[in-house]
Amino acid sequence: MTDEALETKVRSGGVRPGSNPGMRAHDSTPGDTKTEVSTGDLPDLETVQGVVALAHRTYLDVHDGQVADYIPALAEAPPDLFGIAIVGVRGRAGGIGDSTHPFTIQSVVKPFLFALVCEALGHRAVRERLGVNATGLPFDSVMAVEIAADGLTNPLVNSGAIAATSLAPGETAEQKWEFLVEGLSRFAGRALEVDQVVVDSERATNGRNEAMARLMAGHGRLYFDPDEATDVYTRLCSLKVTAVDLATMGATLADGGVNPVTLRRVVSPDTCRRTLAVMLTAGLYELSGDWLYEIGLPAKSGVSGGIVTVAPGKGGLATFSPPLDAAGNSVRGQLATKLLSEALGLDLLVSRPFEEPDPAG
Ligand code: GLN
Repeated sequence: MTDEALETKVRSGGVRPGSNPGMRAHDSTPGDTKTEVSTGDLPDLETVQGVVALAHRTYLDVHDGQVADYIPALAEAPPDLFGIAIVGVRGRAGGIGDSTHPFTIQSVVKPFLFALVCEALGHRAVRERLGVNATGLPFDSVMAVEIAADGLTNPLVNSGAIAATSLAPGETAEQKWEFLVEGLSRFAGRALEVDQVVVDSERATNGRNEAMARLMAGHGRLYFDPDEATDVYTRLCSLKVTAVDLATMGATLADGGVNPVTLRRVVSPDTCRRTLAVMLTAGLYELSGDWLYEIGLPAKSGVSGGIVTVAPGKGGLATFSPPLDAAGNSVRGQLATKLLSEALGLDLLVSRPFEEPDPAG
């Protein structure tokens, strides 16, 4: 076929670009094709531990960033805390520094909350109801809801995460809470509990999230009572975890949905990859592009200073250090994760030529 004939065919046929603005190309694909999986392994344990120690040592003396204070109880976190943990898909675990120091999970809960709701409702239903595109705006942006013609954001910003909470199975707020906490605990491999001081502090200063939930309800994009959904979401953000817990949770997403420590399945492999897709798109809010550019891995940050990063087929990494950049992402966490991604060969986007060109030729 000549180029001209090809162009005529494309332009006059049913695939004319932009002919149906509401259409999404992937909706017409079956989506159930068997996906082949190809991943490498983490280096040996000694190398991993050496690199984790190096990352900790290298950034211990970085004191940039500010501890979050818009939730009063978070402002009390000592800025010097710094922990790193890694859990491989074979269940090997390592940690350094404050890797077992408890802190509240905050926004790092969002991908796991999304995974549980995605598993329960199916990936198409959650995309239709929550959206999966980046907002390019801060995590608590009200404008993001207003400027999206369809009121959709994504499950990793507050609006989408509160909407995801509202979709959790259960007739009452308490049933939704129990469903989610039970699932999150399976991700962590232990029963997670709330930090009551942080919940009280968040509840007392939660006007913005409450307003956002009501706005979403106005757009028909909240699927339960807005105040109750916001309260369940707030309690989820106040669950206590450690960097080791986050690494285990990340390792479960790296391991096709099976927790490599407990060996229990939490979600399906398809749910894992949908979750990792939204983490790549929006895990570090408006700086997600910078993160992908530097680190090349799906991740999620939270305002208490945690970051979970997933190396699919290899393992989960977590860092904890409270001082944040302007977008709400831990400064030392970003630096340490970049070092780990590079030194352990985790970046999803790197390749090496199949055959090195012959230097002589
Ligand atoms: N609980 C916090 C909030 O809703 C979580 C935000 C975050 O970690 N980015 O504001």
